[in-house]
Amino acid sequence: MFKPLDISDSPDKSKDSGSEVQKVKCLIIGSGPAGYTAAIYAARANLKPVLYEGLQPGGQLTTTTEVENYPGYPEGVTGPVMMEDLKKQAQRFSTDVRWGMAEKADFSGKIHKVWIDDGTLIEAETVIIATGATAKYLGLEDETKYAGSGVSACATCDGFFYKGKDVAVVGGGDTAAEEALYLAGLCNKVYLIVRRDVLRASRVMAERVKKTPNIEILWKHQTRGLFGEGVVEGATLVKNLGEPNEKEVKIKIDGFFLAIGHSPNSEIFKDFLETDKVGYIKTIPGTSKTKVPGVFACGDVQDSHYRQAVTAAGSGCMAAIDAERYLMEQQA
Ligand code: FAD
Ligand code: NAP
Repeated sequence: MFKPLDISDSPDKSKDSGSEVQKVKCLIIGSGPAGYTAAIYAARANLKPVLYEGLQPGGQLTTTTEVENYPGYPEGVTGPVMMEDLKKQAQRFSTDVRWGMAEKADFSGKIHKVWIDDGTLIEAETVIIATGATAKYLGLEDETKYAGSGVSACATCDGFFYKGKDVAVVGGGDTAAEEALYLAGLCNKVYLIVRRDVLRASRVMAERVKKTPNIEILWKHQTRGLFGEGVVEGATLVKNLGEPNEKEVKIKIDGFFLAIGHSPNSEIFKDFLETDKVGYIKTIPGTSKTKVPGVFACGDVQDSHYRQAVTAAGSGCMAAIDAERYLMEQQA
């Protein structure tokens, strides 16, 4: 059971050079599974969290249809409904959920400052960063056209829907290798579409891919478009783009998986926190603590490995507990 903290019911407000300044115990940035789970725990611990939703209220899962692997939904649930449930649960314990985007942060002092795009300056004793990561897409119109109807950026999430079918994975790095191997265990055939004549993936992963009988690597191929009546039925590729022997190739597939990398949404925090070379926020292993006391990170923005709703939610819980204990230590 959490010991309630002695804090006021609403954030303290004042004005500072045009910005409205609000003082809060706990600021949560992001409204995906990590942010809302952090909110549920922080609110129940009486931290009166203020949560900013950002440009994608509900996070990545609002862009998908069925979620079948989140515990507690035996019949599955759509991503938008699940995120609405999480939001309601956070609001039930009085989380102050707000529309707005964090634009700038200053973690140089003991009180952490975050500027919101509506002009509000939040001065927070603790900050929980749950801003997620964004999968990279090729930029083809067909990726949008067939979103949720054959196009996916997550084999672990959607691979099951293509059991026994033929699919393609785009990319040549470790993620593409992992996704292709995962899908090879479920699907009839997996095409790996690689733009060069070499894989960027580590040698061990590359060898594993090459040895898997139902994976066919399409070297020096790039994707021109997708086709199909309402759902993906195939892809049009170009082999040897820009070379004299350039030619168009069509493959019949039911699923088209992007695996060309992710961008963690950590840009505005980079001056104050440690990140890896891709931009994932580094946390102290086994915790959600960043190198700045009172600033915590959870979910995909600090996880290049699992990137699942349930792991994001789990780490959101950790962040709220870490924040609550940090505040207790400050009071002691
Ligand atoms: P996100 O869900 O990415 O949420 C990030 C939040 O941060 C968003 O609300 C955004 O608006 C906000 N934000 C970002 N920057 C700012 C800012 N500057 N200020 C304020 N707010 C900001 N996982 C599964 O377990 N099962 C599945 O079936 C599944 N299917 C998927 C299908 C698709 C198409 C995709 C893309 C992903 C899927 N995933 C699935 C993965 C899952 O969605 C993610 O692992 C999970 O959403 C990560 O949660 P998160 O809270 O860390 O971040
Ligand atoms: P990555 O290493 O940056 O690889 C991205 C791949 O996508 C590259 O092969 C790249 O091709 C290709 N690509 C990029 N843009 C493309 C486009 N427009 N069209 C076609 N192909 C495109 O990204 P990642 O695979 O996500 O890995 C990120 C980091 O996580 C790496 O450090 C990786 O080692 C690590 N990781 C490790 C594991 C593991 O150890 N099990 C698993 C996953 C990820 P080029 O090669 O031609 O640039």
